[in-house]
Amino acid sequence: MTKRILVRFGDMMLKQQNIGFFIKKVREHMMKQLSVFEVNYTLRHDRIFIDYQAKDEDEIITTLKKIPGILDFSIAYLTEPDLDHIIKLGQEILNQEVNHDGVLFKIETKRQNKRFPLTSQEITHCVAKPIIDGSKWKMKVDLTHPEVVLHIEFRHEAAYLYLTRIPGMGGFPYGSQGKGMLLISGGIDSPVAGYLAIKQGIDLELIHFESSPLTPLESVDKVVELAKTLAGYTANGAITLHLIPFYQIHDKILHDVFDPYQITVMRRMMLRIAERLAIKRKNMCLITGESLGQVASQTLFSLKVIEEVTQLPILRPLITDDKLKVIEQAKKIGTYEISIRPYEDCCSIYVPKQPVTKPVTKLALTYEAPIHQEWLIDETISNIQTLTITKDFPYIISSYGIQLKDAIQAMQMELMTPDDHIQTK
Ligand code: ATP
Ligand code: MG
Repeated sequence: MTKRILVRFGDMMLKQQNIGFFIKKVREHMMKQLSVFEVNYTLRHDRIFIDYQAKDEDEIITTLKKIPGILDFSIAYLTEPDLDHIIKLGQEILNQEVNHDGVLFKIETKRQNKRFPLTSQEITHCVAKPIIDGSKWKMKVDLTHPEVVLHIEFRHEAAYLYLTRIPGMGGFPYGSQGKGMLLISGGIDSPVAGYLAIKQGIDLELIHFESSPLTPLESVDKVVELAKTLAGYTANGAITLHLIPFYQIHDKILHDVFDPYQITVMRRMMLRIAERLAIKRKNMCLITGESLGQVASQTLFSLKVIEEVTQLPILRPLITDDKLKVIEQAKKIGTYEISIRPYEDCCSIYVPKQPVTKPVTKLALTYEAPIHQEWLIDETISNIQTLTITKDFPYIISSYGIQLKDAIQAMQMELMTPDDHIQTK
């Protein structure tokens, strides 16, 4: 039996005006990611058909699940667009894919070829009985609660028969909504927020604040691992990660800021720096993994005082999700196991015993006065280390040193040759 993958598009089908642009973007993303396989495409305005080698089926399915803008896809069997061929193929599919008697069954037909003299319903009517009678299983027609649905897509060039729709990411094509910068920690939430932003069409960059040598560089390696996973969802399989040496500011906060306000001030400083870099790199928004009520810094009072320092919109895809839902999603996208590895980052080390849950701007301004200095921000930004992280980024940064800049320099020296992974400013 000849098979073809039938790919369908997602939400973007609603956007009639931009549809051509969107479909082109998804196609480009798909073709780039599938270029390692031997495949052929048939492009239609609402579908893509892929011919492929049977041995690659599993890997192609995994790849398609990571492309935003694809609603779902089916492994479809292909035959001549006439009733006899459809009946024969229908029987073969049921013989192969059903494994017991008594299955509740239904056929759904969609007729694309309007010149064919029968309507969709008439086609179903003509083929249903012969398919059921000719299959080796006893099946019961149940139109309301079927266990197995045989879909028939009747098109001009061929008829496609399939049983299941494999869900894709949905959403919009990668980058079709513009650029955004995700504040990524080593935790569970922010990588999920990043995934959701990618799904919704954002071209994502990552910014991570690290406090080596106060915190171990292993926590940076953890973020690199998370970035590798997110890179798997981007159009070219790579993602930019900005590492901000935050030690100097962090240390000053721990010494000079009234304890309950330390987290508030830390977040405000992070957002100030993230905004500067985001604007410089033409990002239109910041994105965080914040979720309402989860910790002291995520009350409405806190969110307000923290976000006052930036003009950019802040997207918080997880804001009303509960933790269990986020964990479930993290497991699905492959970041959970990385996120739960035990390393301290700058927000988990030396957290104040009683962080304020209702901060006020006036006090935040007072307490942060010794820290909020332009030279400190400038100096921090001038020491940013920017990496291009691909799915197979090979380096372990912590094996080159205990402090970020030295480690990356040592890494570069050891490699001797210029490396595509390290971006110079
Ligand atoms: P996460 O699981 O994403 O760490 P969290 O529930 O632990 O989230 P916080 O530690 O309060 O929450 O952080 C809230 C948000 O602030 C994070 O989701 C992330 O977007 C951002 N953030 C926290 N720490 C850092 C960091 N070191 N670098 C960059 N962004 C950070
Ligand atoms: Mg955290």
